[in-house]
Amino acid sequence: MIYNDFNGDKLSRLGFGCMRFKTDPETGEIDQQKVNAMFDLAISQGVNYFDTAYPYLGGKSEIAMAEALKKYPRESYYLVDKFPGHSLPGPVDNIALFNVSLNKCRTDYFDFYLLHNITEWSVKIYESEEYHIIPDMVRMKEEGKIRHLGFSFHGGPELLEEFLNRHEGVFEFVQIQCNYLDWTLQNAKKKYDIITDRGLGVWIMEPCRGGKLAQLSDENMARLKAFDLQRSAASYAFRFLQGLEQVKMILSGMNEVAQVEDNLNTFASYEPLSPEERQTLLEIAEGMKKGVPCTGCRYCCAGCPMELDIPFLLECYNDYRYAESLTASQRLDGLTEDKKPTSCIACGQCSHACPQGIDVPAALAELSEMYANGPKWAEVSKGRAESIRKDLNME
Ligand code: SF4
Ligand code: SF4
Repeated sequence: MIYNDFNGDKLSRLGFGCMRFKTDPETGEIDQQKVNAMFDLAISQGVNYFDTAYPYLGGKSEIAMAEALKKYPRESYYLVDKFPGHSLPGPVDNIALFNVSLNKCRTDYFDFYLLHNITEWSVKIYESEEYHIIPDMVRMKEEGKIRHLGFSFHGGPELLEEFLNRHEGVFEFVQIQCNYLDWTLQNAKKKYDIITDRGLGVWIMEPCRGGKLAQLSDENMARLKAFDLQRSAASYAFRFLQGLEQVKMILSGMNEVAQVEDNLNTFASYEPLSPEERQTLLEIAEGMKKGVPCTGCRYCCAGCPMELDIPFLLECYNDYRYAESLTASQRLDGLTEDKKPTSCIACGQCSHACPQGIDVPAALAELSEMYANGPKWAEVSKGRAESIRKDLNME
């Protein structure tokens, strides 16, 4: 196993993400024996970082993780959890909710703790004085119940920069969605640069884009097999990230023993991609995209009579076009009505200004439709808010 030093701790570069454990389709129960077997194997090969979150698997992930870890000394691994500010029923007793997670995880401290899922929408809750989340979590850190405080982030680079500026010195690390597709599709490169410029640790989630980069088309797989017949598609995705110097943690949501074995092989030694392999992956990524080639130059913005943030909207459009996305829907929820794609009057000014020749009004019309008909964050979070109410014995 390869390791990273981070602010006094030695972290296995591969972290075990606990959001995808196999469950029984009828009962919803987690296959605990399989979780135990995967953890035992991972720990025997040096994995020491286990990452869960309050809402994962309907609240059952925290419990299954604690069960699998109970035979290991507490100081032999790093336990990681997240505060569900994005799913609260309203302002709650944050410390009581934090304590619910401590109890479910059978611990009295978290090594790493994150504000979960900051976007253009949820940031308003996280920063609200009434919700009082950040000061409460800082207090937990001062009291030793959190050793390292960070946040997971699904918004755009501008918000990331502003948020870090507003909370300088509060966070030690930032977890972003990053892989060789999102390097450009979700502006992960820009976010990586913003985080590293501040000397903070970069944590990676979705290294294989929810499994999509682990199962490439035959044509794309043939291009990788030309380098090495044995390596899996997933191993290339991980090695792309190994080459990013400030990446301290790469999380993989493993749910099969064979997957754990393959990942352990990849992380047994440090083997970043050759320049040719890296170039091939970036070409494969370009071929997988289905959106528009917006470079974020903003030449179109000055002439927009509705003052829309066109590159932001096209970022959401590209995300939707690749796969139905709750993240993009939540980011659009963060806009006031007059800044949503439905406000576009199709005047066409932007398309004339665009060096990439993008038909912006057509893209925004399609985005409005996908946003209206796609999954809604508000609906998903309703059930989560309900379980928080129950956990806190709220009326
Ligand atoms: S077409 Fe829409 S986005 Fe483009 S300038 Fe006109 S109002 Fe703005
Ligand atoms: S001018 Fe074109 S490429 Fe530049 S930000 Fe606008 S839409 Fe994107």
